[in-house]
Amino acid sequence: MSHDDAVGTHVIAIDGPAGTGKSTVSRILADRVGARFLDTGAMYRAATLAVLNAGVALDDTDAIGAVVTKADIGLDVLAGGSTTRLDGVDVSAEIRTDAVTDAVSAVSAVPSVRTKLVAVQRRAAQGSFVVVEGRDIGTVVFPDADLKVFLTATPEARAARRHQQNVAAGRPSGLGDVLAGVNRRDHLDSTRAVSPLRPADDAVIVDTSDLTRDQVVETLGALVRDRIGVQS
Ligand code: C5P
Repeated sequence: MSHDDAVGTHVIAIDGPAGTGKSTVSRILADRVGARFLDTGAMYRAATLAVLNAGVALDDTDAIGAVVTKADIGLDVLAGGSTTRLDGVDVSAEIRTDAVTDAVSAVSAVPSVRTKLVAVQRRAAQGSFVVVEGRDIGTVVFPDADLKVFLTATPEARAARRHQQNVAAGRPSGLGDVLAGVNRRDHLDSTRAVSPLRPADDAVIVDTSDLTRDQVVETLGALVRDRIGVQS
């Protein structure tokens, strides 16, 4: 019997702004509870890469919608990580570049982009036990999720984490610029008209500013035990 058969269909929605440790803890949590992991930010990043490759202006919402509607965006979830594909090509590294990070909020604010990717996300999660990470998972994509978590942290704590990740990955990085980028993206993501970043009314809010990664994973593991009865 697979783990999915054992625990049935469950969705754990993890939302929050950039740099709260969302991706890392969601991945570890999924691994511990035997769930699949869906990184929806990677899908918006792949859509953005398609737009940049097509040379479309970031204020041309019709052209953005047309490019993304045609693009084949896929996420392979494998043990030890996931691979993001754009039209069959592995773009997992390319979607993390500054060019994509700077453009992603504009692309993800386009309604037709969201309509397409929400449908892809719902299909990808169908019938399985899955941890889904993003900005609008508890509010829009899976409003009936078994557990909704909203991770927060101060902008300074989030910028410091992003900066450390960049340095560890050998990417050029300055703390001031990273903080400005975090603040800019927060503003765009939380003020857009469609699916703005906000906690669902029934989300559990976890402030990770002063928590280690392991403490956050423990906190989420306890919530999964309480709500779904699965041990981590
Ligand atoms: O999580 P990550 O930083 O990779 O997300 C990149 C961007 O994708 C976010 O800043 C946001 O603009 C967009 N996004 C979104 N809805 C999601 C996931 C990501 O709008 N569910």
